[in-house]
Amino acid sequence: MKVTDHIKKANGKTLFSFEIIPPKKGNSIQELYNNIDPLMEFKPPFIDVTTSREEYVYINKGDGLLDRKITRMRPGTVGICAAIKHKYNVDTIPHVLCGGFTKEETEYVLVDCHYLGIDNVMALRGDAMKGEQYFEPVAGGNNYACDLVKQMSDLNRGKYLHDVIESDNKTDFCIGVAGYPEKHLEAPSINTDLKRLKEKVDAGADYVVTQMFFDNQKYFEFVELAKQAGINVPIIPGIKPIAVKRHLQLLPQVFKIDIPEDLINAVEACKDNKAVRQVGVEWAIKQSKELRDFGVPVLHYYSMGKSDNIKAIASQLF
Ligand code: FAD
Repeated sequence: MKVTDHIKKANGKTLFSFEIIPPKKGNSIQELYNNIDPLMEFKPPFIDVTTSREEYVYINKGDGLLDRKITRMRPGTVGICAAIKHKYNVDTIPHVLCGGFTKEETEYVLVDCHYLGIDNVMALRGDAMKGEQYFEPVAGGNNYACDLVKQMSDLNRGKYLHDVIESDNKTDFCIGVAGYPEKHLEAPSINTDLKRLKEKVDAGADYVVTQMFFDNQKYFEFVELAKQAGINVPIIPGIKPIAVKRHLQLLPQVFKIDIPEDLINAVEACKDNKAVRQVGVEWAIKQSKELRDFGVPVLHYYSMGKSDNIKAIASQLF
């Protein structure tokens, strides 16, 4: 079932969902199940599965030389979506990236999703490769998430690449895209970023999931500005509980987001990361309660592969 239909069916009640990361290759899918199991009691209507970009690895050749190879360390997004959908009878949402994929490869991924009965896909550009400063699409790949949304919308009309086929067996994907309450790090201004978001919606995006934020006011303002920009699809807030002290430096550095003073002070006062994890849970509960009272359609949690803190939060809300 589509995310937008889940929201309609909930009739104003806030839903619970979360995002997981595929295991590093070589590891068992059981690890994922162990983290999903404790969260199923909160009845998520859908679970997102991220896609990781390819990266360079260096193999020591033993003669003082390093061999550079390119590899994807966490493959298997669509397979994991199929496995979880089958095991838990829940909708799963694969994240589909521009970065690292040609349009043809993207089409094959989408065909797989269609055959597997996956109704929702998340269209994302992806970041620059590790060690590179700017995002570069592969030759023949999509440049921006908007181009990817257009490719998905074309398939929804039965239009495959190169016009080789016009099919009546159309896909019917519900398409999600990313939004940034504190603007995307590369965008010159929030208004320009919102213009880009509007382009994604005009190209066929059905809903938005936000980047993490720690100050709800940023989300409220973003929703208001999005409305003023003519964006009328659901905007689902993404929540990440802080889990380690290092997040105070890492999150602002990687995502260009602010952390409120009160949260910084509470984290800095912690003796160890166990205490930080508890502070992160308490902050996320406070954020979530306020967002639920505001009437958000879904509270979507970034689990980063660990469920104990998400369970502690969800048990206070759902
Ligand atoms: P876009 O919408 O393409 O925007 C990227 C930048 O380009 C923005 O600054 C935008 O303003 C600008 N822009 C857009 N169109 C144009 C244009 N025509 N001309 C000039 N500038 C333009 N990353 C992963 O690798 N895997 C994941 O699974 C993943 N999941 C995510 C889930 C969520 C909910 C979020 C919020 C992010 C996720 N990301 C993931 C990170 C995401 O890939 C990065 O934030 C990336 O840098 C931007 O992706 P986007 O889809 O927002 O890009």
